[in-house]
Amino acid sequence: MNIVAGVDLGGNAVNYTLITEEEKFLIEGLCEHPARSREGPRVCLNQIMEGLEIAAARAGVKTSEVTVVGLDTPGPASSTGVLSAEGSTNFVHKDWGGFDIRAGLAEKLGKPVIYLNDGNAGALWGHYVLFGTSREATSVSAIIGTGLGGGVIIEGNVVKGRKGFGGELGHVLVPYQSIPGAEGMKPDCNCGRRGDLESVCSLTAIEKTLLPYFLPKYPGHELGKGDLHQAAKRVRGMAERGDEMCREVFRVQACALGLFFDEMVNTFDPDALIVGGGAIETDKEFQDWFVSEIRAGMPPQRVEQADIPIHIMPNGDTAGARGAAIEALKVARDSGLA
Ligand SMILES: [Zn+2]
Repeated sequence: MNIVAGVDLGGNAVNYTLITEEEKFLIEGLCEHPARSREGPRVCLNQIMEGLEIAAARAGVKTSEVTVVGLDTPGPASSTGVLSAEGSTNFVHKDWGGFDIRAGLAEKLGKPVIYLNDGNAGALWGHYVLFGTSREATSVSAIIGTGLGGGVIIEGNVVKGRKGFGGELGHVLVPYQSIPGAEGMKPDCNCGRRGDLESVCSLTAIEKTLLPYFLPKYPGHELGKGDLHQAAKRVRGMAERGDEMCREVFRVQACALGLFFDEMVNTFDPDALIVGGGAIETDKEFQDWFVSEIRAGMPPQRVEQADIPIHIMPNGDTAGARGAAIEALKVARDSGLA
C-alpha cells in the first residue's frame, strides 16, 4: 500500500497524519511527539523519525509503506524548505540558520519530502475540505494565532511565490483607519509596518495594540489589573462569555479581516474565504457572530460576488499536518509516485 505522511513541525511538538492514495485519513485527531527543536536539527530530525514510527504503528501500517512525506514548519523559509539564515522564533538553535530541513529530513528518512510553510499547509487543508483536490477552485485562508498566517490557493495550487513568501497575508496593509470605534489606534507590527492585518488581527495585536487602546475606555476592567501578556490570552474566553470590551476587541479584529477579505475578493474573485486559528476555536455562537462581524466590516460587494462564502476552518490543530499530506499526495500523483 502507498501511504503519504503529513508532518507538522511546531514550536514544541510534531503532529502527524497518514493518508492513503484514495485520500482516506488513517489517524483521527492529534498524534503528537515532542519536537525538541531547541536542541537543533540533529536532535529534532531524530524526533521526527521516531514520532513517524509511532504514528505508523498507531495507524496499523509499516513505516516502509510510507512512500512520500509532506513536511510543514513555521517560517521564514524558502519555498523548498531552507530555513532563514537569520534564524526565527521557532528555530533558535544556531545550527538551524540556513538549514535545509526538507533535504535533511529526506536524507534521514530515505524518502522524498515535500515542503510547505505552516500557513500555506493550513490554507491547503481548509481548501481541501471544501473542494477536494479539484484543480478549479480558488480560496484565501486567514489563520489567526500568535501572528496571522494563511495562504492563497489558486485553482488547487498553493501560491508559494518566488522566495517562499507567497501567502504572507499577515503583512498585507489594511485601511485600519476606517474601522469604526477604533479611531486613533496606532497598530504597529513586529515586521515594521503600521496597519497590516497581523497588527490588528492576532494574539500579539491584542497584547500590543488592542488592550492598550481599549482598557483606558473601560476603567476598572479586570484585565487592566495584571500584565498584558497574560490578559491578552484571556480575551477570547471573556469575549465568548459576552464581556463587552473583549467583544469590542474581537469586533475590531473581525472588521480588519473584512477589509482584508475585500482586498482578496477584488484580487482573486475566490470561491471561498476561510478563517481559522486559535482565535475562533470557540463555540458556534461566537464563530457565527465573528463571521457576521467580518461581513459587516467588508465594504459593499458587487451583486455577483456578494455570495462568496466565509467558512470556519475545520480540525484546527491538525490542519497543518493534513495540509502537508495533501500537498505531498498531489506532488506524488503528478510525478507518478502514487
Ligand atoms: Zn507585519
